[in-house]
Amino acid sequence: MRGMADLTPTPDRPGLHVSKPSPNAPATGSAVCHCGATATATGDNQVRALVEGYTANHGSAHGRAGR
Ligand SMILES: [Zn+2]
Repeated sequence: MRGMADLTPTPDRPGLHVSKPSPNAPATGSAVCHCGATATATGDNQVRALVEGYTANHGSAHGRAGR
């Protein structure tokens, strides 16, 4: 299995990554947008908020807003 570092978004490869290593472990998430915004979160609720905020305001949402 590849390490998490391979999937973590970077400014060169923007995106959203969520990991939940096991059912008993808290989820972790990281997001990097091409606009320069970055965020990380730990915990299921925090990661959910991260994903919702990113998809609403960043990533492909920039295209929807007309940029
Ligand atoms: Zn953005």
